[in-house]
Amino acid sequence: MAIILITGASSGIGYQTAELLAQNGHKVYGAARRMDKLEKLKSVGVEPIYLDITNEESCRKLVDTIIDNEGQIDILINNAGYGSYGAIEDVPLEEAKRQFEVNLFGLAALTKLVLPHMRHQKAGRIINISSMGGRFTTYFGAWYHATKYALEAFSDALRMEVKPFGIDVSLIEPGGIKTNWGLIAADHLAESAKGGTYEEAALKTATSMRKQYSGNMMSDPKIISKTISKAVSSKRMRAR
Ligand code: NDP
Repeated sequence: MAIILITGASSGIGYQTAELLAQNGHKVYGAARRMDKLEKLKSVGVEPIYLDITNEESCRKLVDTIIDNEGQIDILINNAGYGSYGAIEDVPLEEAKRQFEVNLFGLAALTKLVLPHMRHQKAGRIINISSMGGRFTTYFGAWYHATKYALEAFSDALRMEVKPFGIDVSLIEPGGIKTNWGLIAADHLAESAKGGTYEEAALKTATSMRKQYSGNMMSDPKIISKTISKAVSSKRMRAR
C-alpha cells in the first residue's frame, strides 16, 4: 500500500486513476479545484483535497496536509492540465503563460515541494502525464505542445538528478482519451479565433475536435488509468 497524491483528480484520466488506485488498496489523495466533483470519489475511499496548481501556497498547504496525516508521500502523479489551443498570432501571451503555469510551472512547484520528503524517505516515484503531443504537434496546438515537449525534457532531466536518491521518474504519453480535455481545447480555439487572422480554419478545427471528443473515436480513460496503475507498481518505464 502506497501513499499517492494525484492531481487533476476531479475528472477524466485523474478521476478514473484515483478510483482504480484506491480500489487496488492504496491510500489516495485526489487533488483539484472542483471539490464538488472530488467529493464523489469519497465513496471509493479517495481523500479529496483542494489544489489550485497555479498557486504555490495551495501546493504547499496540500503537501503539508498529507505529510501531517501520513508522514510520507510515496508517489506523486502529476496529471492536472488543459489544452490551450489557438493560432500563435491570435492567442494572447497572457493565456500562453497561463498554459505554462498549469501544465509546467505548477507541476514543477508541486514536484519541488514533494522531493525533499522523497529524498528523506530514500524512495519515491513521480509519474508525469505528458501526451503523445509531447512528441509531435497538431494544428493550432502550439502552446499546448510546447508545454508537453517541455515536460518531456523536464522529466528526463529530473530522472537523472533524483536517481541517486532512490526516486524514479516515469513519463506517460497518452493518445486521444475521451475526456473534457478535447472540448475545453476546442472552446479555447473557438474563443481565440473570434475575429482573428485564422478564424475560418480555427473554427473548422474546433468543430472537428468537438466531434472527435464527443464521439467514439477516443479511448476510454479507464485504459490509460490501467497504464498509470502499472507505472505505480513497476520499475522505471516510459509508456505511451
Ligand atoms: P480533464 O479536463 O478531464 O481533466 C483535467 C484535470 O486537470 C481536472 O481534474 C482539472 O481539475 C485539473 N486542473 C486544470 N487546471 C487546474 C489547476 N489550475 N489546478 C488544479 N487542477 C487543475 O482532462 P484529462 O483527464 O484528459 O487530462 C488529464 C491530463 O492528461 C492532462 O495533463 C492532459 O494534458 C493529459 N492528456 C490528455 C489527453 C486526452 O486526449 N484527453 C491526451 C494526452 C494527454 P479542476 O478543474 O477541478 O481544477
